[in-house]
Amino acid sequence: MADRPKKKSWAEPFKIKVVEPIRMTTREQRLDYIKEAGYNTFLLRSRDVYIDLLTDSGTSAMSDNQWAGMMVGDEAYAGSENFYHLEEAVRKYYGYKWIVPTHQGRAAEHIISQLMIKKGDYIPGNMYFTTTRLHQELAGGGFVDVIIDEAHDPENEHPFKANIDLNKLEDLIKKVGPEKVPYVSMATAVNMAGGQPISLSNLKQVRALTQKYGIPIIHDATRVAENAYLIKEREEGYADKPLADIVREICDLTDGCTMSAKKDCLVNIGGFLAVNDEELYKKAQNMVVVYEGLHTYGGMAGRDMEAVARGLAESVEFDHIKARVGQVQYLGEKLRGWGVPIIVPIGTHGVFLDAKRFLPHLDQDQFPAQALAAAIYIESGVRSMERGNVSAGRDPETGENRKPKLELVRLTVPRRVYTQAHMDVTAEAILEVFDNRDRVKGLHFVYEPEYLRFFQARFEEID
Ligand SMILES: *Cc1c(COP(=O)(O)O)cnc(C)c1O
Repeated sequence: MADRPKKKSWAEPFKIKVVEPIRMTTREQRLDYIKEAGYNTFLLRSRDVYIDLLTDSGTSAMSDNQWAGMMVGDEAYAGSENFYHLEEAVRKYYGYKWIVPTHQGRAAEHIISQLMIKKGDYIPGNMYFTTTRLHQELAGGGFVDVIIDEAHDPENEHPFKANIDLNKLEDLIKKVGPEKVPYVSMATAVNMAGGQPISLSNLKQVRALTQKYGIPIIHDATRVAENAYLIKEREEGYADKPLADIVREICDLTDGCTMSAKKDCLVNIGGFLAVNDEELYKKAQNMVVVYEGLHTYGGMAGRDMEAVARGLAESVEFDHIKARVGQVQYLGEKLRGWGVPIIVPIGTHGVFLDAKRFLPHLDQDQFPAQALAAAIYIESGVRSMERGNVSAGRDPETGENRKPKLELVRLTVPRRVYTQAHMDVTAEAILEVFDNRDRVKGLHFVYEPEYLRFFQARFEEID
């Protein structure tokens, strides 16, 4: 007789109403496809992918309520009803006063960076995000990583690896002067660290410190609900607090946010900038007209804004987020149990394979994470993403590869899209690659774009 389960299983708090068939391919086909794609999973065609774990961005399944909202899109050029619904939802759940819609997160980053950063400024943040840092640099600023050291160690079990190191932050402020620090760039559920949360106690300390110097905090709220869930699970005093209240408490400690609604807000496209300062809002409202569209749609259709408003409300429901993070944890626990090297603790939106330990025979300048993502695709048709030396890009000063400490492959789980069986198949495929890992070869560039090179770079195998 099989062992009785040690803990009670949970199940998804939804049933499936519409399905999309997916296509299985042969190993020979996939070898051709990945070569054609220059060993870059971003350049594969979606039809050639079996289980798509490239990203959780814009890949979520919308609810029936969101789809119903699409039908009441008010496509007026100005003053769309759906804009006011979105504004209401952001005010209610996040508490920010003024909202500027944008077509996605990076557009909000562009606007806030241009408005707040002067040439020669420094922007401290809890690890970088690719588009966030680029917009800060394009505005003339320099990003400074002030995340705790533990975040750069894939084996460290710190429960809040997105915490900010207060000493690093204060040292920077003292060194360059508070007038050269326009804001602190604080992300929740830090993507590049492996979907790791910041604690409320740390955020409160950051708030106290920055208030002393008159420096605001701009929140990358892309995964704020997922971060709130881990606070509820892990931080003392929050177990009985409603998830929505924790989300609100985080936002209330900050002065504004940029949002990629394509993640937590459960939509396929959308984003916004939200601020509490009315003067800043007016400037942002003026700028959005130049780059995105009028300030009551900012690059989104009315129907898309309605879907964001409804998705935002769904994102702070406990049952949803428990199942969402639970599915990621399920995949991670399975791999960890088999000894596959992953980032611990397991994060919120994906499982991150540690390519340095997975492929110790490759030098970091042979792009082990890029090579591993390609090998996983060849083996199984599962698509993942490199988050390592290719994503980190080159240092603008020296022109050298940045060689980040973390050299990762991200298996990102879209929200409400795949079942537990898909997670099982994925885990078994990774194990297969792990068993044959010494066969994976390194890569070198054959084409390297100037900006955000990971999206479009092409590689060949090194013999
Ligand atoms: C996706 C993402 C962004 C950028 O948002 P887009 O909608 O892709 O432009 C910014 N920050 C984080 C943490 C993200 O995950």
